[in-house]
Amino acid sequence: MTTLEQVRERAESDAKTYGYYLTPDKEILRDLLEGLRKNEERYGYPSCPCRLASGKIEYDRDIICPCDYRDPDIEEYGFCYCALYVRKDVHEGKKDIEPIPERRPQEKQMRAYTESPETQTKKTQKTTRESEKPSAPKMKLYYCRQCGYVCFREEPPYICPICKAKKEMFAELKATTEIRENPT
Ligand code: SF4
Repeated sequence: MTTLEQVRERAESDAKTYGYYLTPDKEILRDLLEGLRKNEERYGYPSCPCRLASGKIEYDRDIICPCDYRDPDIEEYGFCYCALYVRKDVHEGKKDIEPIPERRPQEKQMRAYTESPETQTKKTQKTTRESEKPSAPKMKLYYCRQCGYVCFREEPPYICPICKAKKEMFAELKATTEIRENPT
């Protein structure tokens, strides 16, 4: 079982790697780390403590902390959606933390809502019609044209985790099968 201290160390190390800081508010920090710890225990991965997870990794991949939206949010606002990770000026109190718009696409939020174990248990008496079932994500192979990083996801990440190139630098990798005739 992952301990709160392990979650803290992981977040601190990640913040250091990318030149960020953890929120200076000790109470909020503890709550967010505890939320990550609980989600990891519940789902097997640390999904965002501020968002509803579906409990299915194929749907939640983009909100596993640090989520796909952290870097663009920090760049634009100075902190991530939960404000766990913050920029230096925010950490030094030169900029306030305020609510920011959700960058996660709405269809992904809706899918998490329909698939979430919490909402599923509320539907005990109801049967779900075929047409109401969320469609399975269409996974594709993408590669970063700058560094060659390859990932298998619904869509490319906002920022390449290796070289920090933007989403636009990713291209779809199409697999081809070539059948050669046996020369003998
Ligand atoms: S919003 Fe912040 S805390 Fe939530 S997953 Fe993204 S980086 Fe982690």
